[in-house]
Amino acid sequence: MANENGDNTETIKKAARLILKDEIRHLQLVPPVAIKLLNLASDDSAKIEDLSRIIETEPTLAATILKNVNSAAYALPNKITSIKHSVSMLGFSTVRQLALNLLLYDKLIKNNRQQLFDFLFFWQHCLYVATLSRRIAVALKHPDPDMLYTGGLLHDIGKVVLETYGRMTYSDFISSLGNNKHSTIEEERNFFGITHSEMGHVFCLEWQLPASITAIVAHHHKQPTEASPYAEFKTETAIVSFANYIAWMQGISSATHDSHPMLQRAVLETIATDQLDLEDLLQQVDQDIQNTRQFYNIQFPSLAKLRATVIKTTINLSQLSVDNPLPADNKSSRTISSSLIAPHHSLDPDEFLPWTLDAIQRDFAFDRVIMLMIDPKRRCLTASHWRPQPLLPIKLQPFEINISTLSGSLLKCFREKKAVIINDKIKGNDKILQQLKVSEFIIIPVLRHNRLVGVLYADNSISEKPLHEQLPSEIAPIAHELGIALFNAKQYDMEKKRAQLDPLTQLFNKRMINRFLTDIFQGDESKLANVAAGFVDIDMFKLFNDTCGHLAGDSVLRTVADILRSLTRPGDFIGRYGGEEFIFVLQNTDEAGAYHYAERIRSEIERCGKIMSHKFHNHALTVSIGVAMYSRQHTSYTQMIEIADQAMYRAKNEGRNRIVMLTSTTPEEK
Ligand code: GH3
Ligand code: MG
Ligand code: MG
Repeated sequence: MANENGDNTETIKKAARLILKDEIRHLQLVPPVAIKLLNLASDDSAKIEDLSRIIETEPTLAATILKNVNSAAYALPNKITSIKHSVSMLGFSTVRQLALNLLLYDKLIKNNRQQLFDFLFFWQHCLYVATLSRRIAVALKHPDPDMLYTGGLLHDIGKVVLETYGRMTYSDFISSLGNNKHSTIEEERNFFGITHSEMGHVFCLEWQLPASITAIVAHHHKQPTEASPYAEFKTETAIVSFANYIAWMQGISSATHDSHPMLQRAVLETIATDQLDLEDLLQQVDQDIQNTRQFYNIQFPSLAKLRATVIKTTINLSQLSVDNPLPADNKSSRTISSSLIAPHHSLDPDEFLPWTLDAIQRDFAFDRVIMLMIDPKRRCLTASHWRPQPLLPIKLQPFEINISTLSGSLLKCFREKKAVIINDKIKGNDKILQQLKVSEFIIIPVLRHNRLVGVLYADNSISEKPLHEQLPSEIAPIAHELGIALFNAKQYDMEKKRAQLDPLTQLFNKRMINRFLTDIFQGDESKLANVAAGFVDIDMFKLFNDTCGHLAGDSVLRTVADILRSLTRPGDFIGRYGGEEFIFVLQNTDEAGAYHYAERIRSEIERCGKIMSHKFHNHALTVSIGVAMYSRQHTSYTQMIEIADQAMYRAKNEGRNRIVMLTSTTPEEK
């Protein structure tokens, strides 16, 4: 039987031959230039010339690279006309990565027919894993983060091979999956007789890719053993494996059906995951991905899709946890299923926390269950949710526990992040028992990606039923699920914000502007009469970009956004409409009020521009503003916006740095 240790390659090769079509021409799947570029990675002496020469041999690739390098995304001050120049401006690794991405994207993803195996979805996954792997490598001070990017990009290449050349394709495999309980890897072996990582392995050997990348492809689902020829690449395979797991946790798996990839213990033993600031990493990766998205002009999963996959993901996970949450000898494992699943029924902590406490109380019959969250600013624990519900606030006051006063078993629980029963058998516990007026209680830490965010507290202080000693290990899986649910909730919240805000200025984006205006126009008609909308457009903004560079242009945009923010009342609305155009919508105002608001903005921007003008080659920073008042003739908000737009253009034509106000039928200037 084929295995994944890399030491049985002949068997795997045979199995691969059996399931692939005869006419397979694998060199077409990954173009030869890409393979040359991949091999350049392992060669320390690779020079700028080598890279340039490889790229230049493919004229269309060279042209695409130059086009991309000169696009707004890189904000370079001067036009770049040669590949060598590109490499010296952007660096070896950026250009190599750009070339690889373009080659693989063109070959694999673009124009690929829509089957059950969704190539675009797959590409997003590969980019995500690649980007995250590189970030993790940097954080762990790995000497070659670029190699990890490449490994991440290619880790699932076996799936593409199967989809493109399999007698039975990967789409066939997906459609054969019922409500699968096994991991995808096991199901693949049942279906193809070989897994995607084994198939990928065969092709890496065929293509003679560097051993490090081959190791990642072959072993991202199962760490190499000591005896494996890939044993020296344990760290690299562990990083990609971990990144793959995180991608899956967030609903960015390589195929929509993908089931839970196991987080292997060997991975956690190989890399110091506790040294990673995951929150920070994910934010960095989000930013990287945002740039990539703009670059390829491809749509990553929408918020709704992400939300659906996150829920599906967590439901899968909780099912798996129900299947094997506790050692087999534990009799109560069947009875706690509702507690395990409860955290995953929502993405809102205010919903799922109470549900989980309900479930715990039902499953374990505690007298009281309280969720204590850490308040990082005040460095204390506070009760956020509790059961039974009628607990009086006064009874919860003692639960406000200062973290610096922790001692005894409670301190141990915080340090070791392990659940404990706290009673008077251990010295140092008497203070907290007195404070809470109980004789014993159980405390279970809740971790959101290794970071302690709170603890679950439970006691039987009324019935005085003793807490049996297995309780900590029985409740730990529930706290684990709760941690995952809290992580997903946070992720969802971040994603929601990102979908609503313009990343550069943090003002609302066009989508939110349209939503806000739609709501107003569908609301109370009597209030509409007092609505004004206006465009604020920076004058001669291109000059800032052209003479001071794109970064300076960006900083001007942020300055204007900050001024708009500081001068706008709560209840009114401002957003970035696009480029250097902003929009405001005022409620409860009249013509004079709207004009005054616009004038305050105009003069404040002019004033700040004067203060900062030395930074911008003495360019004046001014804006032209067009304002429209609501009129009964406006049947939709778009008409009102059009009028504001016309007003803004008049302001431009009349010399800029001014305000023009129009009402719909009788245009009247101020
Ligand atoms: P006018 O006074 O007529 O409005 O002239 P303008 O130069 O402000 O207007 P124009 O529409 O000609 O140019 C707008 C420029 O804004 C072009 C575009 O490259 C630049 N731009 C758009 N979005 C961004 C961005 O996010 N950052 C930077 N730095 N520039 C941007
Ligand atoms: Mg995989
Ligand atoms: Mg402008």
